[in-house]
Amino acid sequence: MKNLPFTIAEIQKLLLSKEVSCVELVDTYMENIEKANPKLNVFITVSKDKAYSDAKKVDKLIKDLGVDIKGEHPLFGTVVAHKDLFLTEGIRTTAGSKVLDTYIPAYSATVVARLESAGCITIGKTNCDAWAHGASGENSDYGPTKNPWNTEFVPGGSSSGSAVSVASGLTTIATGTDTGGSIRQPANFSGVVGFKPTYGAVSRYGVTAMASSLDSVGHFSQSVADAEKVFDVVRGEDGKDSTVKNFKAAKPKAKIKLGIPKEYFAEGVEEEVKDSVYKASKLFEKEGIELVEINLPHTRYAISVYYIIQPAEVSSNLGRYDGVRYGGPRTSFGAEAKRRIMLGTYVLSAGYYEAYYLKAMKVRSKIIEDFDKAFALVDAIIAPVSPTTAFRLGEKADDPLKMYLADILTVPANIAGIPGLAIPSGFSKAGLPLGIQLMGPRFSEHTLFALGELYQNASGWKFKLAKDL
Ligand code: GLN
Repeated sequence: MKNLPFTIAEIQKLLLSKEVSCVELVDTYMENIEKANPKLNVFITVSKDKAYSDAKKVDKLIKDLGVDIKGEHPLFGTVVAHKDLFLTEGIRTTAGSKVLDTYIPAYSATVVARLESAGCITIGKTNCDAWAHGASGENSDYGPTKNPWNTEFVPGGSSSGSAVSVASGLTTIATGTDTGGSIRQPANFSGVVGFKPTYGAVSRYGVTAMASSLDSVGHFSQSVADAEKVFDVVRGEDGKDSTVKNFKAAKPKAKIKLGIPKEYFAEGVEEEVKDSVYKASKLFEKEGIELVEINLPHTRYAISVYYIIQPAEVSSNLGRYDGVRYGGPRTSFGAEAKRRIMLGTYVLSAGYYEAYYLKAMKVRSKIIEDFDKAFALVDAIIAPVSPTTAFRLGEKADDPLKMYLADILTVPANIAGIPGLAIPSGFSKAGLPLGIQLMGPRFSEHTLFALGELYQNASGWKFKLAKDL
C-alpha cells in the first residue's frame, strides 16, 4: 500500500506545491483499489473515467487559479467514494441490490453535485447492505465487505464499503447514509470518523430512501476536522428536500458540559468498549469539560420503536420499485428487504396500525423528550457507538434479531433526529477498532466537531491506515 498523505489539508498542500498532480493522486488510489478491492470487496463500481476527468479539471483549476482555487472549490483534490445509494449521473447505482443492477441515473444527488463543484474527485461507488438494510454489510447482493483490520470480521453496515474505503486508503472521504447507525457503526468497526448530521441538515435529494423520518446523509473521514470541512460544503437547503433547513453554525460555548448516560453502559456492553469511553471522558475532564451523569430512561425501547417505524416506512418507500419504472422485478428483492416489507405492511394494516405504529410513534415522543431533558442539563453526550467491537462474518447473519441489537446505541439519535459523531479511540486486545460517540441537540454539529477535535488533539491521535494488504 502506498503511503498516501491522509487529510484533505495535507493533500491540498501537496497539490498546491505541485509536488503531486491530481492525476497522479488518482493513479495512487487506483493502484490501491486494484490491490485491495479483490480482498475486501469495497467497491461495486470503480468510476475510473470519471475520476480521471475530474482530476484533470482540478489540475487545470490549480494551474489557472493557484491558491485562489480554495474560494470556490474548498475541497479541491479531495477524492470521494459514494455509497451506492447516492445517485451519480451516468454511473451505475445499485443500492446494493440486484433490483437496480443495471440502473444508470440521469442525475446526481445534491450531495454528489455539491462535492463535485467544491472540487472533489469521484472515484467510485461503494458496497453496502441492499437498500441500507443491515449492520454488517452481509446483506449486500454483491457479497460482503471485509473488515480491513481482520478479514474474518465484518466492517459494520450498512455503509460497509464507504467505511472500509477510508480505513484502507482507497479514498480520502466517503459518503454514507445513517437511518439507525449505518455511518457511525461501520466507522466504529473500521477505525474511521463517521458523522451523522441533524435530521434535515443535509439534503437527501437523489439518495435512495430507506425510512424517510429517520434517514440522514453524512460521511466518513480520517479526521474530525475533515468531517467538518465536508459538512460545511454539503449542508443547507437545495430547494429539493423540504425537510432541509439552513442554520447558522453557533460558536461552541466556552464552558461545555458533557453528559454520560447511564443507560448506554448497561448489560451487554463489552468492558473494553466501556473502558475506552470512560478513558475518553477523563481526557475531556482534564481539558476542562465538566462531566455530568444523565439519564435517558426510554433508551430500552429504542430498538423496538425503530423496528416498527423503520419497516413501516421501508414498505412504503420500496413500493416504487415495481419493475415498471426502475430496474428489475420485485422477485429480485433479497430476504431482508422482503422481511421488512412484510413487517412494515403488517404494522400499518387495518387494526394493527393503532396497536403498533401509533404506539411506536408515542414512545418515539418519549425518547425525544428524554433527550430534550438531557440537553437542558448538558451541551453534548458521550457514549459508546456499539455494544461490541466488530463481530465475525456469519456470526449474526442467520439471526436478524441479534443483528438488529447491534444498533441499540445508535438508533436513539435517529429517532430523535439529533447529530452523532463516531470517533476512533484505540484498539481492543484482539486488534479491532474501538470508538466513542458524541451526540448533541439538533443543529449542534459544530459543538460536536469542536469536542471531537479537542479529543483528537488531546489524545495525540494520528490516523493509521488499516493493516498493509
Ligand atoms: N442496521 C440498521 C438497520 O438495519 C440501520 C441501517 C441504517 O442506518 N441504514 O436498519
